[in-house]
Amino acid sequence: MTTETRDVVGCLVCGAGPVAALPRYARFRRVTSDCRPWYKDGKIAICGACGLVQAVIDRGFEDEARRIYDAYEVYHQSGGQEQRTFSSADGISSPRSERLLRGVQQALGLPERGRLLDVGCGNGNLLRSFGRLHPGWTLAGFEYDQRHRATIEGLPGVTRFHSGDLAAIDGSFDLVTLLHALEHFPDPVGQLRSIRSRLAPGGRILVQVPDHAHNPFDLVIADHCVHFSPATLATVMGRAGVGVTFQSRDLIPREITLVGQVRPDGQEGTVAPPDGPAAGTVTAALDWLAEILGQARALAARGPLGIFGTSIAGAWLGGELEASVAFFVDEDPDRVGRRFLGREILAPAAIPADARVLVPFPGPTAGAIAARHGALAPRLVLPPAWPPAAGHPHIPQEEPPPCER
Ligand SMILES: [Zn+2]
Repeated sequence: MTTETRDVVGCLVCGAGPVAALPRYARFRRVTSDCRPWYKDGKIAICGACGLVQAVIDRGFEDEARRIYDAYEVYHQSGGQEQRTFSSADGISSPRSERLLRGVQQALGLPERGRLLDVGCGNGNLLRSFGRLHPGWTLAGFEYDQRHRATIEGLPGVTRFHSGDLAAIDGSFDLVTLLHALEHFPDPVGQLRSIRSRLAPGGRILVQVPDHAHNPFDLVIADHCVHFSPATLATVMGRAGVGVTFQSRDLIPREITLVGQVRPDGQEGTVAPPDGPAAGTVTAALDWLAEILGQARALAARGPLGIFGTSIAGAWLGGELEASVAFFVDEDPDRVGRRFLGREILAPAAIPADARVLVPFPGPTAGAIAARHGALAPRLVLPPAWPPAAGHPHIPQEEPPPCER
């Protein structure tokens, strides 16, 4: 693989470097984590020493991140309502944070009373779900700015709202949650050390981050500093002195969920060598994204093209394809009837007979969507297989790393 060094920036976790940006990545448009199309010319790199896939955090990245966060609007597609996730077993939807909390209930073993800090609380979706499930707890939220202060302080159970510097938070907590937060920090180990120092004895950390090996669209999110694998996430936790007591790639599809606890020996871990074929996985993921773009352009040339979904993948395709997208489709009743990127959001049943709708999700998710809407099958177009079959030129023929539990 050819690489070129554009910046002298060391690895965000192990300091080795400089890390070299992958040249072809700059040709892709990107998307913001609140689902808006974003510009090309991004830089991602893979650390040769520890295998961490990461953005190159130079001045350009910092400027972009500031612009993205200044305009940030969580779940604007549904007027602020939290995204619903669909169980592949029964097709029943529930708010994403509630599904997560129910799923980790056993791993967390929470008592009836305790103190929670939610880092990256946004407009309070996790705090709302947590308060419903654990009414005996006192809740606190942290966000980098004050925008949602009044909303957070008005939620049942919430006693404090913190903003600004994570290291300046006082008090101690029995559980600290970071849902889609850790990947936004350019110094994840330092932030986790601050959090560790606020944990009460026996306290837990619950982390959820995107799983780019299961969901290549994560790689084109412009404001993500780190693209974790189960192994690099465990390494980052270990460096901060947090041991992993539970880790899952299945609890919420396309996400890595982890529960950690301060290591009893009080030690901080060392950096493990690369955990497997990170470069091969990233190259294959970029190949897959390029294939989907080609597929979408070919479909648009033949007739009206719809895109299934109004989150990251939908925003990315909308930005790349611009006027070639005729409409979006979503199963979430909070989104149907609204507009996304200036296009109408239709319910699946309203897809016009002459249209084709691309379902831009990795294999199992796309297959489950097609199965839920069997009657529409001829109008729904599935993407190339992901993960690619063994034998793909960019997937080294090695066993994947074991998932640490
Ligand atoms: Zn590294």
